[in-house]
Amino acid sequence: MASPGIEPERIQQLNERNVQRGDYVLYWMQQSQRAEYNHALEYAIQRANDLGQPCLAAFGLMDSYPEANLRHYTFMLEGLKETRETLAERGILLLVRFGNPFDIAMDLGRKASLIVCDRGYLRHQKAWREKVAEQAPCLVMQVESDIIVPVEIVSNKAEYAARTIRPKIQRHMDSYLKEPAPTPLQKGSLGMPLDGVDLNDLPKILAQLKIDRTVSPVSPHFPGGARAARRFFQEFLEHRFSRYAAHHNQPQTDDVSHMSPYLHFGQISPLYLALRARNAPNTSDESREAFLEELLVRRELAINFVHYNPDYDAFSGLPEWARQTLLDHAGDKREHLYTQSQLERAATHDEYWNAAMEEMKITGYMHNSMRMYWGKKILEWSRTPEEAFLTTLTLNNKYFLDGRDPNSYAGVAWILGLHDRPWKERPIYGKIRYMSASGLERKCDIRAYVQKVRKQVEKPSQNSAD
Ligand SMILES: Cc1cc2nc3c(=O)[nH]c(=O)nc-3n(C[C@H](O)[C@H](O)[C@H](O)COP(=O)(O)OP(=O)(O)OC[C@H]3O[C@@H](n4cnc5c(N)ncnc54)[C@H](O)[C@@H]3O)c2cc1C
Repeated sequence: MASPGIEPERIQQLNERNVQRGDYVLYWMQQSQRAEYNHALEYAIQRANDLGQPCLAAFGLMDSYPEANLRHYTFMLEGLKETRETLAERGILLLVRFGNPFDIAMDLGRKASLIVCDRGYLRHQKAWREKVAEQAPCLVMQVESDIIVPVEIVSNKAEYAARTIRPKIQRHMDSYLKEPAPTPLQKGSLGMPLDGVDLNDLPKILAQLKIDRTVSPVSPHFPGGARAARRFFQEFLEHRFSRYAAHHNQPQTDDVSHMSPYLHFGQISPLYLALRARNAPNTSDESREAFLEELLVRRELAINFVHYNPDYDAFSGLPEWARQTLLDHAGDKREHLYTQSQLERAATHDEYWNAAMEEMKITGYMHNSMRMYWGKKILEWSRTPEEAFLTTLTLNNKYFLDGRDPNSYAGVAWILGLHDRPWKERPIYGKIRYMSASGLERKCDIRAYVQKVRKQVEKPSQNSAD
């Protein structure tokens, strides 16, 4: 079946069932929580038009989403509220219902002619889709929209490093850097008599959810939703993008995009960002290339990692050489040892590290250079490398808005040698790349970074784009 504007490699048939005689085409939204630049949504609209039926969108809002807390739920619901409004402008009802995504898809899938879903790469996301495909009475189609070059087109195995995946992505990227044109829906679903959660009262919904409330929302820094993402990004392109190549490793500046939370929740498409960055005026080729290196090569390397490595969230998922060298040095004497609770209180002897931890707690974000330093020190200050892995991942996923992402697992594993090479052997680290406070002092204005965080602590909404 032709799908104008959607590359066939993005589309996968997940079961062998037929289109059934249903009332609508269901777009089961999970990963791509947006109304624009969403190939799965456009595919569902096209199929609905082919069948002369309405297109209904649905989202399952569950209490026990792995590791999610009030911070994450607030950001996500702010985004969903806006997505619901934007979809309504296109005549599409987005029904949000309390429940496991699988149950919601199955429940609404009973009366659907076919189910269209988007694509996620984490274990539980894949399991939901497999289960729906297995049990749905109708055809289930998956359409990939949160990656630029489809994961299987890039490679059929876990890649070693950026240098091995880069040429594979570059070979294909021009074929996929294309805007998906929106398809007008012929038969709207707004009038369908279906009940869902009223997204106009977010505090009430949040109060109804049985979730971890110990981590506070960070809306003043990062308001959820596509509108905020586009505004932040436009501001970045206009005022800071030209300095990206020179400054993206300078944590005292804000010369990065801050798009990771929006990408994580699918509130903005990587394709939208890449096209805007590629065509941005008044910037250098160096900055353009440096940004696409992060957004395309590093981000898609992380997706490749979680897709092909079943142990992506475990110490056993690290490369053999890295595990071996860390275990060889597991008995080395540690000068400082901190518990997870001391780390969470930012109560270490290291002022730079404490500032990074504060930034993470207060804003839900941390600059990439500081994430590297932050993780390396946890390795140094933990009793064993396995404990370091667990602590880093736990804190990462608890406080970062962009936590629980393929980038989270790849980032934490990078600290312990993933996608890297052996370096000079030293205590605790073995052959894993080392980072030091003096290195930070040499490479960036770390005092200015500490000052920047101190201001955020005193005045939390200072850096908001509002
Ligand atoms: C220990 C550690 C933990 C990390 N945890 C996370 C995490 O939980 N969630 C997360 O999204 N990223 C994580 N990263 C990767 C990276 O630090 C963030 O993606 C980046 O800092 C986000 O900021 P930005 O959007 O302003 O990035 P920009 O510099 O503006 O880059 C644009 C986009 O490119 C991608 N990108 C940038 N740097 C990287 C990178 N090193 N690896 C993969 N993709 C990258 C991101 O999608 C980012 O939004 C981690 C890195 C490390 C070392």
